[in-house]
Amino acid sequence: MNRKIAAILLLITILVTMTSCGSGNKRYQASFLELFDTVTTIIGYAKDEATFSKKAQMIYDDLKVYHELYDIYNNYEGINNIKTINDNAGIQPVKVDQKIIDLLKFSEEAYDMSKGKKNIALGAVLQVWHDYREEGTNDPENAKLPPMELLKEKAEHTDIHDIIIDEEASTVYLADPEMSLDVGAVAKGYATERVAQYMIGQGYTSLLLSVGGNVRAIGSRDEADKLWSVGIQNPDLESDKQYLMITKLENLSLVTSGDYERYYTVDGVRYHHIIDPDTLMPANYYTAVSIITKDSGLADALSATLFNMPLEEGKALIESMEGTEAMWVNKDGSLVYSSGFEKFIKKD
Ligand code: ADP
Ligand code: MG
Repeated sequence: MNRKIAAILLLITILVTMTSCGSGNKRYQASFLELFDTVTTIIGYAKDEATFSKKAQMIYDDLKVYHELYDIYNNYEGINNIKTINDNAGIQPVKVDQKIIDLLKFSEEAYDMSKGKKNIALGAVLQVWHDYREEGTNDPENAKLPPMELLKEKAEHTDIHDIIIDEEASTVYLADPEMSLDVGAVAKGYATERVAQYMIGQGYTSLLLSVGGNVRAIGSRDEADKLWSVGIQNPDLESDKQYLMITKLENLSLVTSGDYERYYTVDGVRYHHIIDPDTLMPANYYTAVSIITKDSGLADALSATLFNMPLEEGKALIESMEGTEAMWVNKDGSLVYSSGFEKFIKKD
Protein backbone atom coordinates (compact mmCIF):
# COMPACT_ATOMS: atom_id res chain seq x y z
CA MET A 1 0.00 0.00 0.00
CA ASN A 2 1.53 3.36 -0.89
CA ARG A 3 1.76 6.20 1.59
CA LYS A 4 -0.99 8.29 0.06
CA ILE A 5 -3.54 5.51 0.35
CA ALA A 6 -2.41 4.85 3.91
CA ALA A 7 -2.94 8.51 4.74
CA ILE A 8 -6.41 8.54 3.32
CA LEU A 9 -7.40 5.37 5.11
CA LEU A 10 -7.06 7.31 8.32
CA LEU A 11 -9.87 9.51 7.10
CA ILE A 12 -11.95 6.88 5.39
CA THR A 13 -13.60 4.17 7.40
CA ILE A 14 -13.51 1.01 5.38
CA LEU A 15 -16.05 -1.53 6.43
CA VAL A 16 -16.33 -4.96 4.97
CA THR A 17 -20.06 -5.45 5.22
CA MET A 18 -20.43 -8.61 3.22
CA THR A 19 -18.26 -11.49 2.15
CA SER A 20 -18.04 -13.36 -1.10
CA CYS A 21 -20.56 -12.84 -3.87
CA GLY A 22 -21.16 -15.11 -6.83
CA SER A 23 -18.05 -13.87 -8.60
CA GLY A 24 -15.85 -14.33 -5.52
CA ASN A 25 -15.64 -10.59 -4.95
CA LYS A 26 -16.44 -8.92 -1.66
CA ARG A 27 -18.58 -5.91 -1.00
CA TYR A 28 -16.78 -2.88 0.44
CA GLN A 29 -17.98 0.47 1.64
CA ALA A 30 -15.99 3.66 2.30
CA SER A 31 -17.20 6.94 3.80
CA PHE A 32 -15.59 10.32 4.29
CA LEU A 33 -16.79 13.62 5.67
CA GLU A 34 -14.57 16.38 4.31
CA LEU A 35 -16.09 17.20 0.96
CA PHE A 36 -19.12 19.33 -0.03
CA ASP A 37 -20.02 19.74 3.65
CA THR A 38 -21.59 16.29 3.67
CA VAL A 39 -21.00 12.55 3.93
CA THR A 40 -19.74 10.75 0.84
CA THR A 41 -20.23 6.99 0.65
CA ILE A 42 -18.79 4.66 -1.95
CA ILE A 43 -19.92 1.07 -2.34
CA GLY A 44 -18.25 -1.41 -4.63
CA TYR A 45 -17.16 -5.00 -5.14
CA ALA A 46 -13.54 -6.03 -5.28
CA LYS A 47 -11.33 -9.04 -4.76
CA ASP A 48 -9.61 -7.44 -1.77
CA GLU A 49 -9.45 -4.31 0.33
CA ALA A 50 -6.43 -2.81 -1.43
CA THR A 51 -8.17 -3.01 -4.82
CA PHE A 52 -11.24 -1.28 -3.45
CA SER A 53 -9.22 1.33 -1.53
CA LYS A 54 -7.51 2.34 -4.76
CA LYS A 55 -10.90 3.10 -6.32
CA ALA A 56 -12.08 4.97 -3.21
CA GLN A 57 -8.86 7.00 -3.26
CA MET A 58 -9.34 7.93 -6.93
CA ILE A 59 -12.88 9.10 -6.21
CA TYR A 60 -11.80 11.07 -3.17
CA ASP A 61 -8.97 12.79 -5.05
CA ASP A 62 -11.16 13.72 -8.01
CA LEU A 63 -14.08 14.91 -5.90
CA LYS A 64 -11.74 17.04 -3.80
CA VAL A 65 -10.68 19.01 -6.89
CA TYR A 66 -14.34 19.91 -7.55
CA HIS A 67 -14.99 20.60 -3.88
CA GLU A 68 -12.23 23.22 -3.78
CA LEU A 69 -13.13 24.83 -7.11
CA TYR A 70 -16.86 25.07 -6.31
CA ASP A 71 -16.48 26.28 -2.71
CA ILE A 72 -18.19 29.61 -1.97
CA TYR A 73 -17.00 29.92 1.65
CA ASN A 74 -13.27 29.05 1.73
CA ASN A 75 -10.06 30.06 -0.05
CA TYR A 76 -7.44 27.51 -1.09
CA GLU A 77 -3.86 28.42 -1.76
CA GLY A 78 -3.05 28.77 -5.43
CA ILE A 79 -6.64 28.20 -6.55
CA ASN A 80 -9.18 30.64 -7.95
CA ASN A 81 -12.59 29.24 -6.99
CA ILE A 82 -16.21 30.43 -6.91
CA LYS A 83 -15.42 32.45 -3.78
CA THR A 84 -12.63 34.24 -5.66
CA ILE A 85 -15.14 35.14 -8.38
CA ASN A 86 -17.56 36.46 -5.73
CA ASP A 87 -14.84 38.43 -3.97
CA ASN A 88 -14.01 40.11 -7.28
CA ALA A 89 -17.58 41.06 -8.24
CA GLY A 90 -17.55 44.47 -9.91
CA ILE A 91 -13.77 44.60 -9.58
CA GLN A 92 -12.15 42.35 -12.17
CA PRO A 93 -12.46 39.15 -14.22
CA VAL A 94 -10.96 36.10 -12.54
CA LYS A 95 -8.99 33.45 -14.42
CA VAL A 96 -10.48 30.05 -13.58
CA ASP A 97 -10.20 26.34 -14.33
CA GLN A 98 -12.38 25.09 -17.19
CA LYS A 99 -14.27 22.99 -14.61
CA ILE A 100 -15.73 26.21 -13.21
CA ILE A 101 -16.71 27.53 -16.62
CA ASP A 102 -18.36 24.20 -17.42
CA LEU A 103 -20.37 24.32 -14.18
CA LEU A 104 -21.50 27.89 -14.86
CA LYS A 105 -22.57 27.06 -18.40
CA PHE A 106 -24.45 24.02 -17.16
CA SER A 107 -26.11 26.22 -14.52
CA GLU A 108 -27.17 28.75 -17.16
CA GLU A 109 -28.88 25.96 -19.12
CA ALA A 110 -30.55 24.79 -15.91
CA TYR A 111 -31.76 28.34 -15.29
CA ASP A 112 -33.50 28.41 -18.66
CA MET A 113 -34.95 24.93 -18.14
CA SER A 114 -36.26 25.97 -14.71
CA LYS A 115 -37.77 29.20 -16.06
CA GLY A 116 -35.66 31.12 -13.57
CA LYS A 117 -36.68 29.06 -10.52
CA LYS A 118 -33.14 27.74 -10.10
CA ASN A 119 -30.70 30.61 -10.24
CA ILE A 120 -27.02 30.42 -9.22
CA ALA A 121 -26.93 34.24 -9.19
CA LEU A 122 -29.28 34.26 -6.19
CA GLY A 123 -26.31 34.40 -3.79
CA ALA A 124 -27.14 37.83 -2.31
CA VAL A 125 -30.62 36.64 -1.26
CA LEU A 126 -29.46 33.19 -0.12
CA GLN A 127 -26.70 34.77 1.99
CA VAL A 128 -29.33 36.70 3.98
CA TRP A 129 -31.32 33.50 4.58
CA HIS A 130 -28.10 31.70 5.47
CA ASP A 131 -27.16 34.34 8.09
CA TYR A 132 -30.63 34.39 9.68
CA ARG A 133 -30.68 30.58 9.70
CA GLU A 134 -27.28 30.41 11.43
CA GLU A 135 -28.29 32.99 14.04
CA GLY A 136 -31.66 31.35 14.56
CA THR A 137 -30.04 27.95 14.97
CA ASN A 138 -27.50 29.19 17.51
CA ASP A 139 -30.09 31.19 19.44
CA PRO A 140 -33.49 29.54 18.80
CA GLU A 141 -35.35 31.75 21.34
CA ASN A 142 -34.58 34.83 19.25
CA ALA A 143 -34.84 33.28 15.79
CA LYS A 144 -36.13 35.80 13.26
CA LEU A 145 -37.18 35.88 9.63
CA PRO A 146 -35.20 38.14 7.30
CA PRO A 147 -37.09 41.41 6.67
CA MET A 148 -38.79 41.38 3.25
CA GLU A 149 -37.36 44.86 2.59
CA LEU A 150 -33.84 43.48 2.87
CA LEU A 151 -34.62 40.43 0.70
CA LYS A 152 -36.12 42.67 -2.01
CA GLU A 153 -33.11 44.94 -1.92
CA LYS A 154 -30.80 41.92 -2.38
CA ALA A 155 -33.02 40.52 -5.14
CA GLU A 156 -32.08 43.55 -7.25
CA HIS A 157 -28.66 41.91 -7.59
CA THR A 158 -29.49 38.43 -8.87
CA ASP A 159 -29.42 38.75 -12.66
CA ILE A 160 -27.79 35.63 -14.11
CA HIS A 161 -26.95 37.64 -17.27
CA ASP A 162 -24.47 39.65 -15.20
CA ILE A 163 -22.20 36.58 -15.14
CA ILE A 164 -19.72 37.41 -17.90
CA ILE A 165 -17.85 34.33 -19.14
CA ASP A 166 -14.92 34.78 -21.50
CA GLU A 167 -14.11 31.27 -22.65
CA GLU A 168 -11.10 32.30 -24.72
CA ALA A 169 -9.46 34.07 -21.80
CA SER A 170 -10.85 31.50 -19.31
CA THR A 171 -12.22 34.26 -17.09
CA VAL A 172 -15.43 34.91 -15.20
CA TYR A 173 -16.57 38.39 -14.18
CA LEU A 174 -19.59 39.38 -12.14
CA ALA A 175 -20.71 42.70 -13.59
CA ASP A 176 -22.82 43.68 -10.56
CA PRO A 177 -20.61 44.42 -7.53
CA GLU A 178 -23.46 43.48 -5.15
CA MET A 179 -24.10 40.05 -6.68
CA SER A 180 -22.70 36.65 -5.73
CA LEU A 181 -22.88 33.08 -6.94
CA ASP A 182 -24.38 30.25 -4.86
CA VAL A 183 -23.91 26.89 -6.56
CA GLY A 184 -25.40 24.92 -3.65
CA ALA A 185 -28.25 23.48 -5.68
CA VAL A 186 -26.13 22.11 -8.49
CA ALA A 187 -22.42 21.76 -7.65
CA LYS A 188 -22.68 18.52 -5.71
CA GLY A 189 -24.69 16.71 -8.37
CA TYR A 190 -22.61 18.13 -11.20
CA ALA A 191 -19.35 17.11 -9.49
CA THR A 192 -20.74 13.65 -8.74
CA GLU A 193 -21.50 13.15 -12.42
CA ARG A 194 -18.03 14.33 -13.50
CA VAL A 195 -16.40 11.94 -11.01
CA ALA A 196 -18.65 9.10 -12.19
CA GLN A 197 -17.67 9.80 -15.80
CA TYR A 198 -14.01 9.83 -14.80
CA MET A 199 -14.34 6.41 -13.14
CA ILE A 200 -16.28 5.00 -16.10
CA GLY A 201 -13.50 6.34 -18.35
CA GLN A 202 -10.97 4.44 -16.22
CA GLY A 203 -12.86 1.25 -16.97
CA TYR A 204 -14.82 0.81 -13.75
CA THR A 205 -18.22 -0.65 -14.43
CA SER A 206 -19.77 -1.20 -11.00
CA LEU A 207 -19.84 1.43 -8.22
CA LEU A 208 -22.38 3.29 -6.16
CA LEU A 209 -21.53 6.88 -5.20
CA SER A 210 -23.54 8.89 -2.73
CA VAL A 211 -22.42 12.46 -2.13
CA GLY A 212 -24.73 13.71 0.59
CA GLY A 213 -27.64 11.74 -0.83
CA ASN A 214 -26.86 12.65 -4.44
CA VAL A 215 -26.70 9.04 -5.57
CA ARG A 216 -25.05 7.92 -8.81
CA ALA A 217 -25.23 4.23 -9.69
CA ILE A 218 -22.53 3.12 -12.10
CA GLY A 219 -23.55 -0.08 -13.81
CA SER A 220 -25.25 -2.62 -11.61
CA ARG A 221 -24.03 -4.65 -8.65
CA ASP A 222 -21.22 -7.09 -9.13
CA GLU A 223 -23.43 -10.13 -9.45
CA ALA A 224 -25.21 -10.67 -12.72
CA ASP A 225 -28.61 -8.98 -13.12
CA LYS A 226 -28.54 -7.40 -9.69
CA LEU A 227 -29.57 -3.75 -9.63
CA TRP A 228 -28.41 -1.34 -6.94
CA SER A 229 -30.89 -0.79 -4.10
CA VAL A 230 -31.22 2.85 -3.06
CA GLY A 231 -33.61 4.07 -0.38
CA ILE A 232 -35.50 7.36 -0.54
CA GLN A 233 -35.42 9.16 2.82
CA ASN A 234 -38.76 9.55 4.57
CA PRO A 235 -39.24 13.35 4.99
CA ASP A 236 -41.05 12.60 8.23
CA LEU A 237 -37.95 12.18 10.37
CA GLU A 238 -40.02 11.17 13.40
CA SER A 239 -41.46 8.15 11.62
CA ASP A 240 -40.16 4.64 12.42
CA LYS A 241 -39.88 4.12 8.71
CA GLN A 242 -36.53 5.53 7.62
CA TYR A 243 -37.23 5.12 3.93
CA LEU A 244 -40.35 5.89 1.92
CA MET A 245 -39.38 3.14 -0.48
CA ILE A 246 -36.42 1.34 -1.99
CA THR A 247 -35.60 1.97 -5.64
CA LYS A 248 -33.73 -0.39 -7.96
CA LEU A 249 -31.23 1.41 -10.17
CA GLU A 250 -28.77 0.65 -12.94
CA ASN A 251 -26.75 3.45 -14.55
CA LEU A 252 -29.01 6.07 -13.02
CA SER A 253 -28.93 8.90 -10.49
CA LEU A 254 -31.37 9.50 -7.68
CA VAL A 255 -31.43 12.96 -6.09
CA THR A 256 -33.87 14.35 -3.54
CA SER A 257 -34.50 17.92 -2.37
CA GLY A 258 -36.36 18.10 0.93
CA ASP A 259 -37.52 20.64 3.49
CA TYR A 260 -36.05 18.47 6.27
CA GLU A 261 -32.43 18.79 5.11
CA ARG A 262 -31.49 22.25 6.28
CA TYR A 263 -33.89 24.52 8.13
CA TYR A 264 -34.53 26.61 11.22
CA THR A 265 -37.65 27.32 13.21
CA VAL A 266 -39.28 30.71 13.82
CA ASP A 267 -42.35 30.88 16.06
CA GLY A 268 -42.91 27.14 15.64
CA VAL A 269 -42.76 27.24 11.82
CA ARG A 270 -39.96 25.56 9.87
CA TYR A 271 -38.14 27.60 7.21
CA HIS A 272 -35.94 25.51 4.93
CA HIS A 273 -33.15 26.23 2.48
CA ILE A 274 -34.71 26.21 -0.99
CA ILE A 275 -35.86 29.71 -1.84
CA ASP A 276 -38.44 30.58 -4.48
CA PRO A 277 -36.95 33.53 -6.42
CA ASP A 278 -40.45 34.90 -7.05
CA THR A 279 -41.52 35.13 -3.40
CA LEU A 280 -37.99 35.23 -1.87
CA MET A 281 -39.38 32.79 0.71
CA PRO A 282 -38.89 29.02 1.13
CA ALA A 283 -41.00 27.20 -1.43
CA ASN A 284 -44.07 25.80 0.22
CA TYR A 285 -45.47 23.19 -2.17
CA TYR A 286 -43.98 19.87 -0.96
CA THR A 287 -41.86 18.27 1.74
CA ALA A 288 -39.63 16.53 -0.82
CA VAL A 289 -39.11 15.94 -4.52
CA SER A 290 -37.00 13.08 -5.91
CA ILE A 291 -35.61 12.79 -9.43
CA ILE A 292 -34.40 9.71 -11.28
CA THR A 293 -32.38 10.30 -14.43
CA LYS A 294 -28.98 9.28 -15.72
CA ASP A 295 -27.04 12.53 -15.25
CA SER A 296 -26.52 13.40 -11.60
CA GLY A 297 -26.05 17.12 -12.33
CA LEU A 298 -29.36 17.25 -14.16
CA ALA A 299 -31.03 15.33 -11.33
CA ASP A 300 -29.72 17.80 -8.75
CA ALA A 301 -30.80 20.83 -10.79
CA LEU A 302 -34.24 19.32 -11.42
CA SER A 303 -34.93 18.41 -7.79
CA ALA A 304 -34.47 22.04 -6.67
CA THR A 305 -36.41 23.27 -9.71
CA LEU A 306 -39.47 21.07 -9.15
CA PHE A 307 -39.41 21.89 -5.46
CA ASN A 308 -40.06 25.51 -6.48
CA MET A 309 -42.88 24.76 -8.96
CA PRO A 310 -46.60 24.02 -8.70
CA LEU A 311 -47.36 20.38 -9.52
CA GLU A 312 -48.88 20.89 -12.97
CA GLU A 313 -45.90 22.95 -14.14
CA GLY A 314 -43.40 20.46 -12.73
CA LYS A 315 -45.24 17.52 -14.26
CA ALA A 316 -45.29 19.17 -17.68
CA LEU A 317 -41.54 19.78 -17.45
CA ILE A 318 -40.72 16.19 -16.41
CA GLU A 319 -43.00 14.57 -18.96
CA SER A 320 -41.32 16.65 -21.69
CA MET A 321 -37.91 15.19 -20.82
CA GLU A 322 -36.99 11.71 -21.96
CA GLY A 323 -35.52 9.28 -19.42
CA THR A 324 -36.37 11.51 -16.48
CA GLU A 325 -38.85 10.66 -13.70
CA ALA A 326 -39.99 12.44 -10.54
CA MET A 327 -41.81 11.77 -7.31
CA TRP A 328 -43.41 14.55 -5.25
CA VAL A 329 -44.13 14.14 -1.53
CA ASN A 330 -47.03 16.40 -0.56
CA LYS A 331 -47.30 18.05 2.84
CA ASP A 332 -49.97 15.54 3.89
CA GLY A 333 -47.56 12.70 3.05
CA SER A 334 -49.35 11.64 -0.14
CA LEU A 335 -47.18 10.78 -3.13
CA VAL A 336 -47.42 11.81 -6.78
CA TYR A 337 -45.44 9.98 -9.47
CA SER A 338 -44.48 10.96 -13.00
CA SER A 339 -45.65 8.43 -15.58
CA GLY A 340 -42.60 6.12 -15.40
CA PHE A 341 -41.39 6.47 -11.80
CA GLU A 342 -43.08 3.45 -10.28
CA LYS A 343 -41.16 0.96 -12.41
CA PHE A 344 -38.08 1.77 -10.30
CA ILE A 345 -39.73 0.96 -6.96
CA LYS A 346 -38.74 -2.33 -5.38
CA LYS A 347 -41.75 -4.54 -4.80
CA ASP A 348 -41.94 -6.15 -1.38
P1 ADP B 1 -28.67 20.00 -0.90
O1 ADP B 1 -27.69 20.97 -0.33
O2 ADP B 1 -29.30 19.16 0.14
O3 ADP B 1 -28.17 19.24 -2.09
P2 ADP B 1 -30.44 21.22 -2.80
O4 ADP B 1 -29.76 20.50 -3.91
O5 ADP B 1 -31.90 21.05 -2.65
O6 ADP B 1 -29.84 20.88 -1.38
O7 ADP B 1 -30.06 22.73 -2.96
C1 ADP B 1 -30.29 23.66 -1.94
C2 ADP B 1 -29.22 24.74 -1.94
O8 ADP B 1 -29.30 25.45 -3.17
C3 ADP B 1 -29.42 25.78 -0.87
O9 ADP B 1 -28.72 25.47 0.29
C4 ADP B 1 -28.89 27.04 -1.51
O10 ADP B 1 -27.49 27.10 -1.40
C5 ADP B 1 -29.23 26.86 -2.96
N1 ADP B 1 -30.53 27.41 -3.39
C6 ADP B 1 -31.66 27.61 -2.67
N2 ADP B 1 -32.66 28.11 -3.43
C7 ADP B 1 -32.15 28.22 -4.69
C8 ADP B 1 -32.68 28.69 -5.94
N3 ADP B 1 -33.93 29.11 -6.08
N4 ADP B 1 -31.86 28.67 -7.00
C9 ADP B 1 -30.58 28.23 -6.89
N5 ADP B 1 -30.04 27.80 -5.76
C10 ADP B 1 -30.80 27.78 -4.66
MG1 MG C 1 -28.48 19.14 -4.13
